Amino acid sequence: MTPSVYTPSANARRVAIMTSGGDSQGMNGVVRAVVRMSIHMGCEAYAILEGYEGLVRGGDAIKRMYWEDVRGYLSIGGTLIGTKRCQEFKARSGRMEAAKNLVMKGISGLIVCGGDGSLTGADIFRSEWPSLLDELVQTKQLTPEQIEPHRHLNICGLVGSIDNDFSGTDATIGCYSSLQRICEMVDAVDDTAASHMRGFVIEVMGRNCGWLALMASIATGADYVFIPEKPPGQDWEEEMCEIVISHRKLGKRRTIIIISEGAQNTELQKITADQVVKVLTEKLKLDTRKTVLGHIQRGGLPSYYDRWLATLQGVEAVKALLEATPETPSPVITVRENKILRSDLQECVRLTKSAGAALKGKDFKKAMNLRDIEFKDYFDSYKLTTSTTEENPRLRLPKEKHMRIAIIHVGAPCAGMNPAVRAAVAYCLSRGHTPLAIYNGFPGLQRHHADKPVGSVRELKWIDVDDWVNQGGSELGTNRSLPSEDVPTTADCFRLYKFDALFLIGGFEAFTSASQIRNNRDKYPSFRIPLLVLPATISNNVPGTEYSLGSDTCLNTLVGFCDVIRQSASASRRRVFVVETQGGKSGYLATMTGLAVGALAVYTPEDGINMRMLLRDIDFIREDFQDDKGAARAGKIILRNERASEIYTTQMIADVINVEAQGRFDARVAVPGHYQQGMKPSPIDRIRSFKLAIKCMQFLEDNFAGKSRDEINANPLNAAIIGIQGSDAVFSPMGSDLGLEATQADWAMRRQITEYWRPVKGIIDILSGRPNDTNWL
Ligand code: ATP
Repeated sequence: MTPSVYTPSANARRVAIMTSGGDSQGMNGVVRAVVRMSIHMGCEAYAILEGYEGLVRGGDAIKRMYWEDVRGYLSIGGTLIGTKRCQEFKARSGRMEAAKNLVMKGISGLIVCGGDGSLTGADIFRSEWPSLLDELVQTKQLTPEQIEPHRHLNICGLVGSIDNDFSGTDATIGCYSSLQRICEMVDAVDDTAASHMRGFVIEVMGRNCGWLALMASIATGADYVFIPEKPPGQDWEEEMCEIVISHRKLGKRRTIIIISEGAQNTELQKITADQVVKVLTEKLKLDTRKTVLGHIQRGGLPSYYDRWLATLQGVEAVKALLEATPETPSPVITVRENKILRSDLQECVRLTKSAGAALKGKDFKKAMNLRDIEFKDYFDSYKLTTSTTEENPRLRLPKEKHMRIAIIHVGAPCAGMNPAVRAAVAYCLSRGHTPLAIYNGFPGLQRHHADKPVGSVRELKWIDVDDWVNQGGSELGTNRSLPSEDVPTTADCFRLYKFDALFLIGGFEAFTSASQIRNNRDKYPSFRIPLLVLPATISNNVPGTEYSLGSDTCLNTLVGFCDVIRQSASASRRRVFVVETQGGKSGYLATMTGLAVGALAVYTPEDGINMRMLLRDIDFIREDFQDDKGAARAGKIILRNERASEIYTTQMIADVINVEAQGRFDARVAVPGHYQQGMKPSPIDRIRSFKLAIKCMQFLEDNFAGKSRDEINANPLNAAIIGIQGSDAVFSPMGSDLGLEATQADWAMRRQITEYWRPVKGIIDILSGRPNDTNWL
């Protein structure tokens, strides 16, 4: 007899989520988002336990999931629904069992979160689906009536892997948490290496993909890197030794070499960490040790970015699944810079496979190009900045194109400012430009007197900045004061030091400063030089960009803070924390932290706070604690931006909750204050500061090096800002009718007019179950 089969009604589709392959941080965030979004959309949610093994086994391994089942998932590493490598699924017989189990459970939509192997499996499964069903009928395991409602299986892929080896996406879920772990470890090794003047060869994971190794090298300032896609030439021992010696000659006390576990030479012979240690020990007599990081790289808490990515991609996957028709090709959810996209699963799997095949076929150029779009640029820039000590005639520009580029920090300090200077300086030196540091912002410059120079402007050397790669804050010194405090002296200094360009790194004040200088060009000829702003502020409120340096580090700090205080609620029970974030008049920090910690509510200056909202939220808390399906132990977080309301202060909100709760629950205030600036920059802030600072230097070079004053004046980008907009890094003009000053700067509120992140609030509400009237879908 054929087993009874569930037939889904039109409005109760069943959606299943599975994690497969190697685990990665963020997979739990995916499960939470998929389960809750599916329920929100009127579907029933299921989890397939232990990856494809659960699908083949069926029965209890396909488990109905309810709202409260995924409580707390966001902040837990690994995968709570399990993952396994499953040989049976690789055979058609295993996939037949899997198909039968899905039909019997009435599941018509399957979301698979895993690496390239898992997604290849998913792709094969969907393409075989009609024939699997036919065979199930032919072999009388199911009847035609039973399979009829399940003729089409919709599949959606999510890329969960620490390796970041999947083509078509900038990042896989988990790769940045893994990179964070690696950077923490390399920073730690760095300290001991410098103490003893030692060398360390550090092996990192990534299988045949060098992304983790390359990014870790950029983020920690390693001296040399080995990755599979770019095997070193036969003379690698000499090349590496030369670089190490030149760095040591400049005063560097430690040597860090990062080697990917898949490192190889051009003949595909493995290069091992032991080999590298031997070379450094024997040829350079350097006391060198090996450190293999191993599974530490997989574990630990998911970073802010992975929670963001997991949540938004999980939500997108459910939407994609429910919108799919039988004709729609299976999608995989990808990300390009800041934009979540749907890509063709089959095509991305094909590209990933061809990257692997290219490596095997020694076509390294092709393999490199099949990684994420900028992988090769990153590698080239890394090489350029690490071998900067050698005067490489190939890299140097002709003398007439050399520029004197002044670098200044403006506004509050944030993580990312120092690595940005380091990258800019390294780039400038390799090309023959002169990087000039302005110390202590515009007041530093304005203290200058022609007859008594105070030394606020100094040339920077490579060794001055090399250590800044992982340092938070601002080594140059930064200040909120603006050029307007003393325009004539500012202009005089520009003239005296013969600045050819000004590179401003900072927040809204940097933007304002560039605007003030631009607006004084008529009066002061020394201001008629290119001005370029690299946004760096935790508030992320600068017009022209969706991302500012320092904001990722801050969000990681806030997420860690919320995790800790939420845990403290597990002992006291039924507690709500009202956490106050910085951000000025921009609700970005509060909102994005809310997304990453699963906040109950987020209060921002953009939407304000009113009594109706507050009381409705208190009712919601009351109901949630009443049901007590684990909510009491979990603790609740409300995020309130420091300027969300003049009247409803953070303390007042907590007081109102306490009064209304009538002893059934209580509220406490938590204010992280300046702690939010964080310590060391996150890997994302380090990598992006590297990438954006170098792009800025290239932009100045391409547009202005060797150009006449008239040519500079005629270029509308002579006062510009670099920003991430959607899927691209772009330069936008500040002035003119279409420039950012006129179109995107809310000068009164000191924020952007169009804030791309605002729809995220709707997602937070949906995933926390908060009643809301935001029609964001
Ligand atoms: P990671 O990148 O973390 O290793 P992955 O998804 O690539 O993750 P794999 O071990 O390659 O990990 O694949 C996970 C599971 O996916 C396998 O155990 C198998 O069940 C299934 N799978 C992989 N490749 C195929 C295939 N070609 N056909 C069917 N199923 C497959």
